[in-house]
Amino acid sequence: MPHHADRPTKICAFCGRPFQWRRKWTRVWQEVRYCSERCRRTARSPSNRRRSASASSGSDNRP
Ligand SMILES: [Zn+2]
Repeated sequence: MPHHADRPTKICAFCGRPFQWRRKWTRVWQEVRYCSERCRRTARSPSNRRRSASASSGSDNRP
């Protein structure tokens, strides 16, 4: 049996592509949600949350 046959896979929460377990994720595999550092950074970047303005304080609208 190939040594890589039992590696689990997940679907990236950002790009939606399946990715395979890597050795560096041995301890954190349950918490891994993104296929790469790039996806993780992009998904968590504050500049990616501009959709809703309801959370903003609107401080520039003062008299
Ligand atoms: Zn991804």
